[in-house]
Amino acid sequence: MFDASEILTDQIDTILERWEAAVRQDSRIESSADLSETALKDSMPVLLNGMVKALAHQGSESYEIVASASLEHGSARANEGYNAAEIAWEYQILRRIIFSVLEPQLLPGSPEEILRTIRTLDAVIDEAISQCYTSYVQQRVKELEQVRSQLILTNQELTRLLRTSKDSLSYMAHELKTPLTSIIGYSDLFLRQQKQAVDVHLTVPNLRNIERVLQSGRLLLRLINDALELSSSEAGKIQLNLACIDVKQVIKDVVATIEPLAQAKNLELKIECDRAPNKVTTDIFRLQQILTNLLSNAIRYTDRGFIQLECLSHDDRQWSIIISDTGIGIPQKDLTRIFEPFMRASSNLHRRDEQSTGLGLAIVARLIKLLQGEIKVVSELGVGSTFTITFPGEI
Ligand code: ADP
Repeated sequence: MFDASEILTDQIDTILERWEAAVRQDSRIESSADLSETALKDSMPVLLNGMVKALAHQGSESYEIVASASLEHGSARANEGYNAAEIAWEYQILRRIIFSVLEPQLLPGSPEEILRTIRTLDAVIDEAISQCYTSYVQQRVKELEQVRSQLILTNQELTRLLRTSKDSLSYMAHELKTPLTSIIGYSDLFLRQQKQAVDVHLTVPNLRNIERVLQSGRLLLRLINDALELSSSEAGKIQLNLACIDVKQVIKDVVATIEPLAQAKNLELKIECDRAPNKVTTDIFRLQQILTNLLSNAIRYTDRGFIQLECLSHDDRQWSIIISDTGIGIPQKDLTRIFEPFMRASSNLHRRDEQSTGLGLAIVARLIKLLQGEIKVVSELGVGSTFTITFPGEI
């Protein structure tokens, strides 16, 4: 009499042996390289026993065995550093080997019996994959949550440090950069893998947690970079690299990088360079930094209308760049203070902005001073703001 559960029982050892060899040889499953035989097989023998029970019509018992073993398997694989795709490959190999080993043995069965066997095996493997991914994702999300709370603490500590000490700040910020970059890289990778793996049914809250880690990580990195920049300018450590440059080209390049931000908010970017000087002597990188900061602020604090940049030469001795917007404006009382670190104008206190570090204008003001220029701002609440920077003709 045809008994699929008996057929599978006889072949379990062969299947496991072939599966182990195939996984070890598969270059797509790198994380298996350092695992012992027991660790690699992990829940696979239990899974196969679960299949035997399912084929012997012990459905609910089989479900329990498979579900709990696969849940454990997911956490184990997360700890062993597997990515989602590697887990999927392992199951795919298992499916292929089971069917190739069983195929000749199943042939004596009737079409109905063969079909029922294939369906049962498929259903058990699908259940295993689903449970395994559930715990894998839970494990990863738990780790990401921990990372996120650490980032928040670090963020608070760094902010405190920024306000109190300048020397240890730059040391501290350097120390933080490496782990932060890896946290962000890791979360980024995880998110991408999750989005690519078709088998993974990610819940919306899980995805949101991952996004949150990335967001706070990125903001913290920006804060550290800005803080470093500020502290080196205050310590007189910025080395200028002066050269004769084509200012129109620099403006064009900066505008090209910033344009998508304006487009995303439906803001027109008007550039007026007819009266710009042909060549100026300045530090190209610092000038780009200044323009990027002022233009992105203009876009950030403007909801409708336009942003305008005008570059003009007054005479041989001076040239200016004027950046104006039709944004929220800045109250008169805050106009001088916005160049201080962490100063936010009262007009934007209600805005929660992921990009904002409160350090941009402080850096801009110091860079302009370093280039022997000056910055002025005029603004009207609800109408817009105009930042004018003026540089000497020769530095
Ligand atoms: P942030 O990262 O908060 O933008 P900044 O140092 O660049 O920090 O700017 C300081 C503050 O100045 C901002 O928080 C905002 O209140 C105000 N501000 C800067 N640029 C503009 C602008 N173009 N329009 C309105 N407010 C601005």
